[in-house]
Amino acid sequence: MKIILMGPPGSGKGTQASFMASITEVNSVSSGDLFRDNLSRDTELGRMAKTYMDRGKYVPDDVTIGMVMSWIEAPENKKGFVLDGFPRTLLQAESLDDRLGAIGGIDKVILFNVPEPELIKRLAGRILCRKCQTPYHKVFSPPIKQGFCDMCDGELFQRQDDSEAVVRERLSVYTEETSPVIQRYKELGNLIEIDGSLSIEEVEQSLREALE
Ligand SMILES: [Zn+2]
Repeated sequence: MKIILMGPPGSGKGTQASFMASITEVNSVSSGDLFRDNLSRDTELGRMAKTYMDRGKYVPDDVTIGMVMSWIEAPENKKGFVLDGFPRTLLQAESLDDRLGAIGGIDKVILFNVPEPELIKRLAGRILCRKCQTPYHKVFSPPIKQGFCDMCDGELFQRQDDSEAVVRERLSVYTEETSPVIQRYKELGNLIEIDGSLSIEEVEQSLREALE
């Protein structure tokens, strides 16, 4: 079973990737995992990626695809895989399909749909203690005393990356990049959309049904 999970940041697909992997008895991987792994093993692709990352540039698609393909072709992934958040651009999707050619294409692409206001509530609610770094969430795990850490009474603050403006920008970049990918898999007939705003248990149930 060859599966792709797609969904915006905050849609919960990362959480569900390991669940999917466990019920289909294959391994899951995200592009972040692959970067970390290639950097730590100091592979040729890892060193190439690092030259871009060190300059604050995006890693080119062919480097990312190289990492994904060498992972897919490893003996332990022969029976299938779950890709978490890859491909993200149309070019990546086309190259992936080309390179998978010989072993057959993707079976299912599962798209986690979550309305934007809910994503913003999830992503822009993160706050941290300035002193001990304990994380809180304004809605889901607020501190007892507003603005202060339960552990050390330190001041709570929000990282720039978690501000609403930055979150909105990230979501709009995501939508722009992935719309053509979603369209492609829709046309190929293997896109399954699920409601990612439901509870974890309900999402797990939808995933089980999606696999039937
Ligand atoms: Zn603290």
